[in-house]
Amino acid sequence: MMKIGTFQELFDTAQSENKKIYEIAQQNESENTEISVESIREKVKQNLNAMKAAIKLGLESKEKSISGLCGDDCAKLLERYKSGNSLFSKPYQKVLTYAFATIEQNLRMGKIVACPTAGSCGIVPAVIIAVAESIGACEETEINALITAGVIGQIVSNKLALAGAVAGCQSECGVASAMAAAALVEMYNGSNEQILSAAALTLKNIMGLVCDPVAGLVEVPCVKRNGFLAIYAVTGAELAMAGIKSVIPIDEIVDAMKQVGEMMSPQLKESSEGGLATTKTGLKISAELAEKWKQIN
Ligand code: SF4
Repeated sequence: MMKIGTFQELFDTAQSENKKIYEIAQQNESENTEISVESIREKVKQNLNAMKAAIKLGLESKEKSISGLCGDDCAKLLERYKSGNSLFSKPYQKVLTYAFATIEQNLRMGKIVACPTAGSCGIVPAVIIAVAESIGACEETEINALITAGVIGQIVSNKLALAGAVAGCQSECGVASAMAAAALVEMYNGSNEQILSAAALTLKNIMGLVCDPVAGLVEVPCVKRNGFLAIYAVTGAELAMAGIKSVIPIDEIVDAMKQVGEMMSPQLKESSEGGLATTKTGLKISAELAEKWKQIN
């Protein structure tokens, strides 16, 4: 059985077997679970289809969350893109709208795929599906990309809990962005080195992002953060495919993220006791919602 606990081990195994990272990931998963590679790919396909369904529903809805804080930003973006005035080209527009479409489905309690978490669910699907549509990539390419994203998240999670309550938003939206960057390089048939560079560059530059949800809801700043970090993933992939490398190796970046997560005050780890949650407006929203919940109950 293969031992793959670090990115270095993943890279070395892939290089020595002359395989892509997704091939090693699916082979490893198959050996660990005793499920065939075909069945694993079928399961990934089901997740991909669930992501596509969430995007479709999200693009069609303007329904706000129960709090009333979020839910119509995707519709606003779509409206803007109809005008033909956007700074973004079509693929970027899709990445941004698909990220909002998915995360807004999450706050409507719709079905989404946590990747790696519900609060960061918009990033990976937006990048893979929007780019696949834009370049005409086939389903197998999308599955390869999603497996690549998965193994990035899996290896980070060996050292760092993927939860805002443990390590801040760097470990949710930050990791999702790195997963998406790596997936995007795979879609463009980049090398294994470029795939890991994309993840490394993305992770490194999101380090220290705090988790400070207003009123304890996965809405503010979470929704917009999905849009920003989906676009950010494209930057990571572009840099890597240009041959730009991270000076710090990715395993060391994850160690540093863990350290930063441990040093982060508990007030900035999902407790809503700091950051945006305790701004004047954040506290006002929190008090108003507390009153609203009382009346509902
Ligand atoms: S701010 Fe916190 S709750 Fe919101 S997505 Fe990030 S980690 Fe999750």
